[in-house]
Amino acid sequence: MDPLLRSRADIDRLDKEFLRLLAERMHAVRAIGAHKGANPDAPLVDEAREREVLETWAREAEKLGLSSYFAGRVLREILNWSRRDQERFLDAHAKPASTAKAVRVAYQGVPACYSDLTITKVFATRDVARVERLGRKSFVAAMDALEAGEVDYALLPIENTIAGSINEVYDLLAKRTVTIVGEEVWPVEHCLVGVPGTVLEQVRTIRSHPVALQQCQRFLDGLVGVTAESWHDTAGAAESIATEKDARVAAIASEEAARQYGLGVIQREIADERVNLTRFLLIGRAPEPVDPRRPAKTSLVFAVNHRRGALLQCLAAFNDQGISLTKLESRPQPATPWEYVFYVDFEGHVTDARVEAALGALREHTNHLTILGSYPRRTESALERRQLPVLSADIEHLGIEPLGIELVEPLDDAHTLLATCPAEAKPAANPNLKLSSLKQPGQRTQVDVSGVVFGGERFVVIAGPCAVENRAQMLDAAAMAKAGGASMLRGGAFKPRTSPYAFQGLGFAGLELLVEAGHAYELPVVTEVLRVEDVEKVAETADMLQIGARNMQNFSLLREVGRARKPVLLKRGMSATIEELLLAAEYVMAGGNHRVVLCERGIRTFETATRNTLDISAIPVLRAKTHLPVIVDPSHAAGLRDLVVPLALAAAAVGADGVIIEAHPRPGEALCDKDQALTGDDLVKLFAQLKPIVEARGRTL
Ligand code: PEP
Ligand code: MN
Repeated sequence: MDPLLRSRADIDRLDKEFLRLLAERMHAVRAIGAHKGANPDAPLVDEAREREVLETWAREAEKLGLSSYFAGRVLREILNWSRRDQERFLDAHAKPASTAKAVRVAYQGVPACYSDLTITKVFATRDVARVERLGRKSFVAAMDALEAGEVDYALLPIENTIAGSINEVYDLLAKRTVTIVGEEVWPVEHCLVGVPGTVLEQVRTIRSHPVALQQCQRFLDGLVGVTAESWHDTAGAAESIATEKDARVAAIASEEAARQYGLGVIQREIADERVNLTRFLLIGRAPEPVDPRRPAKTSLVFAVNHRRGALLQCLAAFNDQGISLTKLESRPQPATPWEYVFYVDFEGHVTDARVEAALGALREHTNHLTILGSYPRRTESALERRQLPVLSADIEHLGIEPLGIELVEPLDDAHTLLATCPAEAKPAANPNLKLSSLKQPGQRTQVDVSGVVFGGERFVVIAGPCAVENRAQMLDAAAMAKAGGASMLRGGAFKPRTSPYAFQGLGFAGLELLVEAGHAYELPVVTEVLRVEDVEKVAETADMLQIGARNMQNFSLLREVGRARKPVLLKRGMSATIEELLLAAEYVMAGGNHRVVLCERGIRTFETATRNTLDISAIPVLRAKTHLPVIVDPSHAAGLRDLVVPLALAAAAVGADGVIIEAHPRPGEALCDKDQALTGDDLVKLFAQLKPIVEARGRTL
């Protein structure tokens, strides 16, 4: 037998075995689910146990020569599924499988539209025997079917992360006597689909729902001589192509819709934004109980008294009870011009004591209040997504050797050493530092970069190469940064080089490689932007924009990043005073962008032993002057590998909020700043040595 065919046959056999084992595992998971269902006091998630399972899995994977990181990701997905699968045993309405009934669900659209696909996801873990789907022409028709009792549920989209709220559905929720019993999030992946065999050059007309067309605007703009045609929905557009069989007409729809209607995918990933999520609501006629162990959300609609400060008092009612709002939306009331109703989503269930108290207070300030429903929460913030446990195997797999040189004092001594750090001084008033200066002593702003928080409890480590050089280098660097415990990835795509003959960076191609590596290892990325005209485009994919030392006083660039919707890492100019650094931050903030992180990276002095001189005192000085987070770049300060770790430790000791470190998988081959690049082993050592110092400052790593 041909060896290739033999290997494929092996894969097929193993996949089958894999699935059989997965089914067996799921069976065991369900037995535990049944136990949790029968014992309301049993905790829903046993974090210690999950961690243990993850650790064992990573260890076993490594023994087999597998990457513990990727194997860990497979297990996390299985654990997610298991957790969801157990939900069927939890809610009081769940019945034993033998009595599970068939349900009828109405949606707007035709088979394989995004709503239809989401129905499959919603009911995958609900205890039903069969789901019958009824596609309706409009949201109103789906809602009519529900109210008339023709269906048990309606599933309607309520918002999209790009297009925003679906107002018609909001308005329907307020008017009808229905209740929200669930939510679900669907990741939208638009494809260009057409008659099988069609190539892009043949296409003259592209048809889809107006929102989908709008979400793929850049792709459409790049096509010459192609007209966009709006259609009632995405799957409907795909269906029409299948009927017409004209290769000159294509549709924007999901891959599932293409499959459903026998079409081919001409191009994938054509949307402007990588993340495109639609949130759907499952709507029923009566509330359904939610197990108190499940995180719940509640939606309501209210109209306020026509009184000054009324909305503020309404929102304070939630705040006073420590309840987080997850959404606030206002809609006009056509009958009473200039008066609005407000839709609010918040965390908690109507039966929670705190929620009851908040609703009591809220009612005092509202003309009208309707609870639209309490339901299990399916949305999570970027921050929560990043709070996955870090496996010690993730860190161990490079192998921590016993530390060579003792660069820090033992923990107890570190404590006494740090206890002598001077108290932070009183805020100094400078009328030009309107936004960046401290308003009261100890004020701290937290800057969230796609889930990584600067200025919070955690000390942030950013690591990565000086420059993006090629795909393999970048992927290896990301693996190294991850294994070394970093929570963000750096990499210069546009390099400010002293010599015009030095490597200038790969530009946007480099940015793509950086973003790809960041996604692969779940690390948000920071990259330098050099030109005003690049800011908007870099901000589309980078999680954080760096303004380099050489551009700290490039005021038009500062203004431009001030307009951007991404956080900014502002490096101190090599001959700039602290005051000038703060005024540069002020430029960015005055432009509307308040998410600024400052970076001390060494200044020019008469000393030549090091590339620059790390101004370590700048950190406590800045902390006394500004509420913005401050990090340190020991790599550019030192210019020499051996000095990077000690300076990073010093930064942590004087109260920096993090460090940005240059590291390269093969420093000897680095095209840029090779003498200061750490190796993977160095990073692991750095992490181990930082830990006691960071902890002595009352923070975590
Ligand atoms: C960099 O971080 O890649 C860099 C060039 O730093 P700086 O602007 O501080 O020299
Ligand atoms: Mn560099």
